Amino acid sequence: HAKEAGCDNYQFYATEMNSKAAKRLLFEVQLRHAVVRQEFVVYYQPKVDTADRKLIGAEALIRWNHPDLGLLTPANFIAIAEDSGLIVSIGQWVTEEVCRQNQAWLQHGHACVPISVNLSAIQFRNKSLVDSLRILLEETGLPPRLLELELTESVIMQGSETVIGTLQRLKQLGINLSIDDFGTGYSSLSYLKRFPIDTLKIDQSFVWDIAHDESNAAIIKAIISMAHSLKMSVIAEGVETQEQLAFLEAHQCDAIQGYYFSQPVPAMKFEEMLKVQRTLH
Ligand code: C2E
Ligand code: MG
Ligand code: MG
Ligand code: MG
Repeated sequence: HAKEAGCDNYQFYATEMNSKAAKRLLFEVQLRHAVVRQEFVVYYQPKVDTADRKLIGAEALIRWNHPDLGLLTPANFIAIAEDSGLIVSIGQWVTEEVCRQNQAWLQHGHACVPISVNLSAIQFRNKSLVDSLRILLEETGLPPRLLELELTESVIMQGSETVIGTLQRLKQLGINLSIDDFGTGYSSLSYLKRFPIDTLKIDQSFVWDIAHDESNAAIIKAIISMAHSLKMSVIAEGVETQEQLAFLEAHQCDAIQGYYFSQPVPAMKFEEMLKVQRTLH
């Protein structure tokens, strides 16, 4: 059938491809506009101390309030932002927004917590990263300890002196550094100790079936003890159930992030949480 319709089929395929390419191009143009029109929104997901369930931080997660499509999650646009290079200006916006917001909360007298921002590899390679962060911290007046950057293993694993140098300069600014989605890449123990990293974030894929998959449970235990022996703290992502929480608590995982406590929430809602500084159960 496909052969019979060969010609038409090709025709169809070509049109399909063109429209896909056209859609993609349109989306990229819209993304470019979104930066200028400030259509992005930052959501905040609480991080909770495993032992006393207190709010100890948050992760900033970008959303795009698309004029036609509504609120889009990063899966819909981060890859395109990276391919097009727009991630640099988008990332700059997110970091600014988070620093301004957290400084405002500090000024309002709320108990303040560090907020982490995800940094893509492209941003990390950008020559002006450290300088622009230094200027941002100076301009907003935010204490650097209240800002954290989440890097991926792929960034770290390039392992060059340039990478180590950049990490050291970020640490000198007083910023906290963590490795996101830890365990999905190929970092080794001996490798990790060369980097000035404060926190490992255990990838949620290990957490999901913690109670039923023995190898995942073993991996989590290994990551926790490895991190602690390197004087790093550990946070588990994607914690949704009491069962997962109990396992992580029993194995001294320092902190927890996941729907069990809270989904990512808009700034106003997170501010309420800061005001109460309530213990989350
Ligand atoms: P990530 O940094 O690993 O963030 C955690 C993701 O897991 C978030 O998805 C969060 O909403 C989701 N999550 C948290 N707790 C749970 C849970 O209990 N269950 C489940 N199923 N999911 C949970 P989100 O917000 O869609 O973000 C996806 C990814 O997009 C992030 O993964 C991060 O890599 C990227 N991203 C988000 N914001 C930014 C940004 O501002 N800049 C850059 N470069 N990347 C970003
Ligand atoms: Mg992250
Ligand atoms: Mg993650
Ligand atoms: Mg992830």
